[in-house]
Amino acid sequence: MNKIACFITRTNESTADAIRRGLDRSPLYTGKIRGVGPRYCPSIEDKIHRFPDKTSHQVFLEPEGMESNLIYPNGISTSLPLDVQEEYIHTIPGLERAVIVHPGYAVEYFFSNPQDLFPWLETKRIQGLFFAGQINGTSGYEEASAQGMIAGINAALKIKGEEPFILGREEAYIGVLIDDLVTKGVEEPYRLFTSSAEHRLLLRQDNADFRLMEHGYTLGLIPKEWKEEIVGWKRDMETLREELRRRVIVPKDSVRNIMNELDLGEISHPTPLLHILRRANMSARHLDRFDMDISRYHPRVLEQLEIETKYQGYIERQCKQIEEDKKADKRKIPADIDYAKLEGMRNEAREKFNRVKPATIGQAARIPGIFPSDVNVLWIHVMKMAKEQPAA
Ligand SMILES: Cc1cc2nc3c(=O)[nH]c(=O)nc-3n(C[C@H](O)[C@H](O)[C@H](O)COP(=O)(O)OP(=O)(O)OC[C@H]3O[C@@H](n4cnc5c(N)ncnc54)[C@H](O)[C@@H]3O)c2cc1C
Repeated sequence: MNKIACFITRTNESTADAIRRGLDRSPLYTGKIRGVGPRYCPSIEDKIHRFPDKTSHQVFLEPEGMESNLIYPNGISTSLPLDVQEEYIHTIPGLERAVIVHPGYAVEYFFSNPQDLFPWLETKRIQGLFFAGQINGTSGYEEASAQGMIAGINAALKIKGEEPFILGREEAYIGVLIDDLVTKGVEEPYRLFTSSAEHRLLLRQDNADFRLMEHGYTLGLIPKEWKEEIVGWKRDMETLREELRRRVIVPKDSVRNIMNELDLGEISHPTPLLHILRRANMSARHLDRFDMDISRYHPRVLEQLEIETKYQGYIERQCKQIEEDKKADKRKIPADIDYAKLEGMRNEAREKFNRVKPATIGQAARIPGIFPSDVNVLWIHVMKMAKEQPAA
């Protein structure tokens, strides 16, 4: 593949001085713009202002294309006026004679409070209107496309008169993203991080199809053969797991030799192969060394079983927690509940419930600043309402 070089240079004290001199003309610093910039890609003036002890910042010089002599200086995005840009660009080594063809600029955008959305991304105020992407206060391509997909799916389900589709926090990062948005709202442009997911041990790239393929099929997004392949792999995993549980190896010379060769340590008593698979150096691909016929298993089956076996303890603990959370997420709260009329509840809790209008008790409990006692009071009210208005 053809490649062209990308360079690195750095800003210096003269760059910082030029920027500081122009700060009084930055719309962000003069207060003309009151929005909060994205935390994870700050402008150069932001970096100079927020990290005054740093005397230099890295700049990637990226060619715009094979046929172009334009260079994109990544790392110095800015909203400063053009004459300030001209001055500081020329202080950067390598850019002394650079010509600015497209000046840097900033964009400001409005967003709508995502707490005004149901977890299926329909607005609470206008039925049938769905919001997705930056309008919900997020920043990022993946964040926007993930919401777009969920909003699209739910718009279609709504037209068909079917139940909304919501991915749980334990099922997918999309579930974490949307639950964070609709439950907590946003204080600054929101980006999704793996650290926001409490069940991230399960939300792995290697098992994405195992987690989500059946949903995809139910929603009509993927063909039946794909779903059937996954169902088959899951079945094979259980068969192989059981086989490994039953297959016991004994401490005899031939076994010791193989274990030595694979650097698997010792065994002092008969041991199921499943336990051997837990060992750090043991791979499912080596099972054939212990007279197992693994040729009929797809590599994905071997891979998944190996991962699940090695992390079994942690995965089980996480699944237990998820079961608890799920119970709370099954307890639905009617959308028309009038929080103002609920007695015995703290005012702060009433206000927060009223703003978020949680769809489930689980979501209610995740609202920042809500106490377990508030959730109990709410649940008692919901049950009371259900008794007074039995389902038709
Ligand atoms: C300079 C810059 C660099 C960025 N770099 C990155 C990056 O490296 N990585 C990353 O993940 N994210 C990046 N982002 C953020 C990312 O681009 C956005 O968060 C994301 O594209 C938002 O997608 P969206 O679909 O919500 O909105 P948009 O992409 O803004 O789409 C909204 C669309 O609606 C159209 N529209 C508006 N009003 C109307 C109307 N009345 N009728 C019909 N159509 C209308 C607009 O023309 C637009 O096409 C960057 C953003 C900027 C500005």
